[in-house]
Amino acid sequence: MTTLDADYLVVGAGASGMAFTDALIDNADVSVVMVDRRYGVGGHWLDAYPFVRLHQASAFYGVASTLLGEGRIQADGPEAGLHERATAPQVCAYYDRVLRERMLASGKVAFYPSCDYVGDGQFVSRLSGRRYEVNVRRHVVDAQYLSPRIPAQTEPPFAVADGAHVIPVNDLVRIGEAPSQYVIVGSGKTATDGCIWLLANGVDPGAIRWVRPRDPWMLNRAFVQPDPAVILGMAADIMQAAADAESPDDMFFRMEDAGVMLRIDRSVTPTMAKTPTLAQWELDLLRTIEDVVRLGHLGRVQPGRLVFENGEARIADDAVVVHCAASGLRYRPLVPIWRPEAITLQPVRAGFPCFGAALAGYVEATVEDDDEKNRLCRPSPLSNTPTDWAQMQVIGRRAAAAFNSDPDIKAWAGTLALNPAHVPPDRAHSADVAAAVRRLGACQERGAARMAELAGMA
Ligand SMILES: Cc1cc2nc3c(=O)[nH]c(=O)nc-3n(C[C@H](O)[C@H](O)[C@H](O)COP(=O)(O)OP(=O)(O)OC[C@H]3O[C@@H](n4cnc5c(N)ncnc54)[C@H](O)[C@@H]3O)c2cc1C
Repeated sequence: MTTLDADYLVVGAGASGMAFTDALIDNADVSVVMVDRRYGVGGHWLDAYPFVRLHQASAFYGVASTLLGEGRIQADGPEAGLHERATAPQVCAYYDRVLRERMLASGKVAFYPSCDYVGDGQFVSRLSGRRYEVNVRRHVVDAQYLSPRIPAQTEPPFAVADGAHVIPVNDLVRIGEAPSQYVIVGSGKTATDGCIWLLANGVDPGAIRWVRPRDPWMLNRAFVQPDPAVILGMAADIMQAAADAESPDDMFFRMEDAGVMLRIDRSVTPTMAKTPTLAQWELDLLRTIEDVVRLGHLGRVQPGRLVFENGEARIADDAVVVHCAASGLRYRPLVPIWRPEAITLQPVRAGFPCFGAALAGYVEATVEDDDEKNRLCRPSPLSNTPTDWAQMQVIGRRAAAAFNSDPDIKAWAGTLALNPAHVPPDRAHSADVAAAVRRLGACQERGAARMAELAGMA
């Protein structure tokens, strides 16, 4: 047993652990031991399928001290005019650089990769078997509470009979011989990425059968840009839709009419609202797939056949079935971020996990009392259904009001590119920003009140 001393023990070196630690050491003279069972920093990005990119602009992701990417607007390609989005290798390289150049170089952080945290301040190396114990002077930080479940590390949620060809989405890039049919299983972002990648690489839409148990709502990426006029304009569209809506579904239809929300099939009312972003060119490609199977959840794959809870469907004998059906986001109970046993990182401003973790790091560094920290920095949930989405908006707005009530936190948060409400000084007096603020001001109060009713939280 090796004994270490540190102020903080951070468990998990993914986006959450990295953003928390970065903001903490930048604002306090403290020591941190950070552990992860993976071989490096970056969390799930280290095991991501090779063609994934951030679905949001790079500027919204990463740590507070260091911009991810260069804040560039894409000059060409199908997303010309939208902000750059990092690929998985770029995300991993960025986190590795932040670790080496800021964290390790500061002398405040020691990183232990390939180590399993086993509780009680102890962790074990997966490589050497060595056991470590940390005398934690201040807090253990749980930076894996919402760690997403990804196909590369999750068995398919359906049975696979002998002779059926099922692969995780990561293995699509290793296909050696084209099958006559691809069967994509899943409704979320990973499934849409798989379909788009195949189509963009010349696979005929007729060669894809898409098993989509639920239809998803997705945010139009053109509205989720690091530009205050665009973000405030989207907030105004959302509030106007909420103010006029008769139900959560009606609110989504109104947001769709405003261009904010997208769905693949306009004849189906989506029941899923995790709302990753999607670009118009991606939507156009997805709509070319006409063979969609909606028979509920897939129970079993057999050679030539899919067996569902509500029936069966034929597939080609040589079909490759692509597992994109890991649960992804995790819906764990909201807990106070500061408790005696741990600081449990969760989003604060809805939809922006890196901002929330950075904010928690800053609050930990600058506020004394844990009750006061919890008052100022409150967790927001992730959403799964349209009603959840309304709840996420209500709780997120209340959380933003809480941290903005403290002038120091408000000033710090206002400087961060990670914060979607960030207004760069050169844009503060622009006419388009002022117009968006006016539009939001005109519907904000009614929209927020109605949103709370739609969420069942009035
Ligand atoms: C494909 C994909 C794309 C996404 N794109 C975006 C995006 O564009 N924008 C956005 O805002 N969000 C995006 N998200 C969501 C976002 O990435 C996550 O919410 C967040 O980044 C997850 O970070 P995390 O640190 O919570 O989890 P993780 O990245 O999973 O990190 C947690 C780490 O904890 C470690 N760990 C867990 N238990 C232990 C233990 N006992 N001992 C040691 N280590 C342990 C794990 O090994 C892991 O590395 C995406 C998610 C996925 C899956």
